[in-house]
Amino acid sequence: MDSIWTQTAQLPRFPPLQSDLKSDVLIIGGGMAGLLCAYQLSQAGVDYALVEADRICGGTTKNTTAKITAQHGLIYHKLIREFGVGRARLYLEANQAALEQYRRLCANIDCDFEEKDAFVYSITSRKKLDQELSALERLGFASEYVETPPLPFHVAGAVKFKRQAQFHPLKFISAIAKDLRIYEHTKVLELGPGKAVTNGGTVSAEKIIVTTHFPLLNKHGGYFLKLYQHRSYVLALTNASNVDGMYLDEDEKGLSFRSCGNLMLLGGGSHRTGKPGGGWKELEAFAQAHYPNAQVTARWAAQDCMTLDGVPYIGPYGKNTSGLYVATGFNKWGMTSSMVAASVLTDLILGRDNPYTSLFSPARTMLRPQLALNGLTSLLGILTPTAPRCPHMGCALKYNAAEHSWDCPCHGSRFGTNGTLIDNPSTDDLQP
Ligand SMILES: Cc1cc2nc3c(=O)[nH]c(=O)nc-3n(C[C@H](O)[C@H](O)[C@H](O)COP(=O)(O)OP(=O)(O)OC[C@H]3O[C@@H](n4cnc5c(N)ncnc54)[C@H](O)[C@@H]3O)c2cc1C
Repeated sequence: MDSIWTQTAQLPRFPPLQSDLKSDVLIIGGGMAGLLCAYQLSQAGVDYALVEADRICGGTTKNTTAKITAQHGLIYHKLIREFGVGRARLYLEANQAALEQYRRLCANIDCDFEEKDAFVYSITSRKKLDQELSALERLGFASEYVETPPLPFHVAGAVKFKRQAQFHPLKFISAIAKDLRIYEHTKVLELGPGKAVTNGGTVSAEKIIVTTHFPLLNKHGGYFLKLYQHRSYVLALTNASNVDGMYLDEDEKGLSFRSCGNLMLLGGGSHRTGKPGGGWKELEAFAQAHYPNAQVTARWAAQDCMTLDGVPYIGPYGKNTSGLYVATGFNKWGMTSSMVAASVLTDLILGRDNPYTSLFSPARTMLRPQLALNGLTSLLGILTPTAPRCPHMGCALKYNAAEHSWDCPCHGSRFGTNGTLIDNPSTDDLQP
């Protein structure tokens, strides 16, 4: 169940923390977000350290599909409707700038970086595509309508973004992480103002950045209300006629396609963690019907944190948490969002202006329909009288037969059948 990235890259190793440490900035969590923060802070000459509970990129990042694009579904029509043209344009600019940062960095890194066009297709709705095209026109962005993208089934059309990219995320991380100040196998157990207690010593730092995927502090920022987790599944196929470009269904339950050498990565089967969904079975059925000669060479699954309004939370952690910052809620677009987070947080820490700070501020309004859904799901989870229960907030866990795990529908914690914690926000194993 290892991703092709894990199978084909060697990540550098780092020592565990073995004594107390003082640094100006501490970063907690070594996935794409934390590592890019560390990289940008180091480039800016800031004194920093990063602690990672396990190995770097052992979380969601190792199981991504690694498309680097500002095309995050049909998001721009929605952003204009909910935030106005100015903010929608900022979102586009921030993510296009992140793509350009990757382009520059990857020019000197052997990480299979390839320029590709990105497409979002709809199976049924030409109207949705037209709305997105006119939203993009209002933002002054040159997208295109494509009537018959080269997919093995009929679609109503697709919106195309030119010159986006894909890469090998772990080869990229190998190169940028090797000279960073990182402590692996160093888990933060307690977090207080200017101080993090780990299993290897206490780190004192004026500023602390939390990039633990789901933020680890419950009592500030309301992230347990503002986030939920959504799972997706991936198959790597040989002998599937390869697609030139990166494709995604506008429907949350639809499919995703990209090439990787002679492999085709087929993604989908998605569902809220702890709820039923298509999983690998749905992908296998699709592959059998549309690529009868294809063979599955690898399969994996992962989940990402989803926000109330489709925009990540990047900035100060909460109202009363001076010096504490967070980057989370990448809505399955964590490649460009991590780069945006690193730029915004580096500027915040250095006291520099950044045009995107207000757009991504975690303090923005929570009054969105998804808030009620999250609240209701948590209430149902807490009231459901089954065992076992999640140590995070006491919700009833659901058995995930595809992956043999116990999953929490409320906030997305997951546990192996022996009770070992797989995914946060829970910090503890299941009690026997
Ligand atoms: C199936 C799938 C496909 C995707 N495809 C794409 C794509 O094509 N393009 C795109 O842009 N995005 C994609 N994404 C999203 C992207 O992969 C994620 O947003 C991104 O990898 C998240 O990175 P992260 O650093 O926030 O989290 P993670 O990679 O999970 O890193 C968090 C780290 O924090 C560590 N940690 C946790 N708690 C502690 C603690 N107490 N102390 C110390 N360390 C701790 C963990 O061990 C982990 O290593 C996809 C997501 C999924 C699920």
